[in-house]
Amino acid sequence: MPTRDDCLQMDAQDALAPLRDAFELPPGVVYLDGNSLGARPRSAAARAAQVVQQEWGEGLIRSWNTAGWFALPRRLGDRLAPLIGAGANEVLVTDTTSVNLFKVLAAMLRLQARRDARRCVIVAERGNFPTDLHIAQGLIAMLQQGHALRLVDSPEAIPAALGDDVAVLMLTQVDYRTGALHDMATLTRQAHDHGALMLWDLAHSAGALPVDLRGADADGAVGCTYKYLNGGPGAPAFLWLAPRWHGEFESPLSGWWGHAEPFAMEPQYRPDPGVGRFLCGTQAIVSQALVECGLEVFERTGMAAVRQKSLALTDLFIALVEQRCAVHPLTLITPREHARRGSQVSWQHPQGYAVMQALIDRGVIGDYREPGILRFGFTPLYTRFIDVWDAVEALRAVLDGEAWKQARFQTRSAVT
Ligand SMILES: *Cc1c(COP(=O)(O)O)cnc(C)c1O
Repeated sequence: MPTRDDCLQMDAQDALAPLRDAFELPPGVVYLDGNSLGARPRSAAARAAQVVQQEWGEGLIRSWNTAGWFALPRRLGDRLAPLIGAGANEVLVTDTTSVNLFKVLAAMLRLQARRDARRCVIVAERGNFPTDLHIAQGLIAMLQQGHALRLVDSPEAIPAALGDDVAVLMLTQVDYRTGALHDMATLTRQAHDHGALMLWDLAHSAGALPVDLRGADADGAVGCTYKYLNGGPGAPAFLWLAPRWHGEFESPLSGWWGHAEPFAMEPQYRPDPGVGRFLCGTQAIVSQALVECGLEVFERTGMAAVRQKSLALTDLFIALVEQRCAVHPLTLITPREHARRGSQVSWQHPQGYAVMQALIDRGVIGDYREPGILRFGFTPLYTRFIDVWDAVEALRAVLDGEAWKQARFQTRSAVT
């Protein structure tokens, strides 16, 4: 079993170690929540000042052209594309994940209704992040065309839920609670075999592991930039459409930014021929500009190296917790197999919420999800092997000393 010195040795030999310096991390904190809000790239502070002081303050309205504001959603999309196996002019950075999911799902349902009105079922997992299900429910209620959501209770149940009535298979590649990773290529093929379109949510996979949307032949995807991509709190999300659908999918939010010529100011909507039709309105430029700072760091490495370190970090964490916290009621709910694991590790504990609060109090920041789940995200760009060691020692101390029993760790905050 590795020692603390072994962890220091692993850091000394880690090719990604220098990238940690690209991030601002508070002293005394082990940050294991980059899967929920990525750490701040150091360059983001200067970039924010530049956007606010020069581009806005001095450039004023001219900056839409001179600072490239208008092109930003597409430019950022092109920079993000290699991380998800997409090409140029296929990705937009815009709106939120929830809103992008609404747009892409609506376009898919509309296309399927045009081909065959009996295709009206969306297959999804009951355990998916709730917003994905809520968006589907709202869309179904709005359409009033007999659409339905068919929820499965386990990944193994997905193939049996696919039939000739299925319009869309909508899945999140990495489960936000368990960290379980789907086989993107196989599931996409199964969806296509049944005539369904495949929509992937990459919230917990973009920037966490290599994603190959084109290789898997997927139809559409959405995802976050504020998690593993380190774009900043509430940073705009992304969407991808397979090139074969660019002229076919229609956005239900046909705002002026999606028009073929926004400044022609035509009363009649005429969509952009490409992915640009999925833009809606004026973007939050200050927030959008910061996304670039996160993407730049990825250009200094490759996703294969990120994945290799991610698996080494999560393997180490699992092994150390099992060794050092063995007497405590912790149940691993993350798959052990590499091919089925994302970049997080989750443990269930009967007092999960209070344990996490006591841990955060000691400077080890993970988060909590119902039911009873301690969630730890591992972001290879800035997490060290020594952080894994220190986090496990803190967890052991909290459990051995029963620090979590203190009253102040029992009350729930709005965000867990
Ligand atoms: C984090 C997350 C979201 C977040 O959606 P927002 O619109 O950005 O709030 C959506 N889906 C999944 C699967 C997520 O993990």
